Amino acid sequence: MAYDFDLYVIGAGSGGVRAARFAAGFGAKVAVAESRYLGGTCVNVGCVPKKLLVYGAHFAEDFEQSSGFGWNLGEADFDWATLIANKDREINRLNGIYRNLLVNSGVTLHEGHAKIVDPHQVEVNGERFTAKHILIATGGWPQVPEIPGREHAISSNEAFFLKELPKRVLVVGGGYIAVEFAGIFHGLGADTTLLYRGDLFLRGFDGSVRKHLQEELTKRGMDLQFNADIERIEKQPDGSLKATLKDGRVLEADCVFYATGRRPMLDNLGLENTGVTLDDKGFVKVDELFQTSEPSILALGDVIGRVQLTPVALAEGMAVARRLFKPEQYRPVDYKMIPTAVFSLPNIGTVGLTEEEARSAGHDVVIFESRFRPMKLTLTDCQERTLMKLVVDGKTDKVLGCHMVGPDAGEIVQGLAIALKAGATKRDFDDTIGVHPTAAEEFVTMRSPVGA
Ligand code: FAD
Ligand code: NDP
Repeated sequence: MAYDFDLYVIGAGSGGVRAARFAAGFGAKVAVAESRYLGGTCVNVGCVPKKLLVYGAHFAEDFEQSSGFGWNLGEADFDWATLIANKDREINRLNGIYRNLLVNSGVTLHEGHAKIVDPHQVEVNGERFTAKHILIATGGWPQVPEIPGREHAISSNEAFFLKELPKRVLVVGGGYIAVEFAGIFHGLGADTTLLYRGDLFLRGFDGSVRKHLQEELTKRGMDLQFNADIERIEKQPDGSLKATLKDGRVLEADCVFYATGRRPMLDNLGLENTGVTLDDKGFVKVDELFQTSEPSILALGDVIGRVQLTPVALAEGMAVARRLFKPEQYRPVDYKMIPTAVFSLPNIGTVGLTEEEARSAGHDVVIFESRFRPMKLTLTDCQERTLMKLVVDGKTDKVLGCHMVGPDAGEIVQGLAIALKAGATKRDFDDTIGVHPTAAEEFVTMRSPVGA
């Protein structure tokens, strides 16, 4: 049968655009449907605008510290509306770039909601298109628990478009988004409280990292409340919000921001017209080739719920395009040693195993750890400290994990990820000459183990 397209991609986000562009580049006839915004979550309400707001928040401490270097700036004054307008302009520019990327690579773009009507057919804006393969790349959506008054809370989707910076913010959650946004609000001057239901936030990160960040955020005056969760939210006559916690305490705020995970975006997608099945958490179930249980339908990115990071969605998109249309270049996605950063202030950068994971995997673990005051702060009153940690296998000398909390940790960990991917040993780290004077050189000068 002749199809309208070889590949029909639903969702022009990180993974969908990558798969579509490369498939078209390999000679396939490709269409993409996008219902909301070109570039998807990362470009519009994720990585990019978030990082711009983090940069914005960082200026507060730069201004404060500059006096130690002789600068006299007077009183700093921050205008949220300017930051948001400039951010919006930049995102508009990126939307245009994404459009050009797709169109210039020969992809047909359909702007509208796509619904799968049968395993080889998609409907957009009332028109139907047939395709040999359909790729579900519809991403995720914030998940806010069903508590009374949840309609008064916002998620990251709304936070990027607030008309003004709230004076008092309650951030709920202890994952990436909660920690990053708490840093943004706090840095920009809002009175910020982070509420996390467990003992210590950032579950799954290295224990030293979690503790160190807790200490650093507390030093900066952020109110961290663990073992705390909201039972209900009420709007008060003056427009402010009253949050009653499960332990009975009452907190007042102007904004309650939920960052409690993301669900797969499957709304009105038409999966009932296919044999696609979901896993026990509701994400689309795929095999190692991103094949769903319906032979003509594939899925990737956040909607499959593996690792919800843009570079992972990109790698998956590349793998799908190659497997379908350039099989001789196909390489499976390797989920080991994925570096990641939390853009808190200060940043976390991490790659490889945490100390806890290495121990429970049975490694004979040797730990190297360094805590120090960054050189830039020596002329200031700031008492912030940086943490660097190596998790090493005592038997093979292989470096299993690198972890950092400190300025530019996200930048530093990218290079370390290459070393770990290549199987570097602690001896390789020791034999590497440092770049002086940097913080990063500490990763190659840690000599004495602190624990085994
Ligand atoms: P998405 O990028 O979400 O794209 C899915 C697209 O599909 C969307 O554009 C959507 O509108 C469209 N769509 C959905 N349903 C339909 C339909 N039926 N028809 C047509 N179109 C449809 N990751 C990082 O690596 N680094 C970061 O710093 C980072 N920061 C983040 C900050 C925030 C606040 C958030 C929310 C996420 C962040 N992420 C970050 C995660 C990253 O954004 C996602 O992992 C990534 O965008 C997933 O890509 P995707 O292609 O799977 O889906
Ligand atoms: P995460 O899964 O990272 O964190 C969710 C947090 O919410 C956890 O602390 C979880 O607690 C808590 N939680 C979950 N359900 C509830 C509930 N019902 N009540 C109270 N607390 C709850 O999700 P995020 O929303 O922060 O981010 C989604 C994903 O997006 C991230 O996992 C990451 O993959 C990606 N992302 C990446 C970024 C980056 O690369 N810098 C930045 C932002 C997002 P518990 O731990 O107890 O389960």
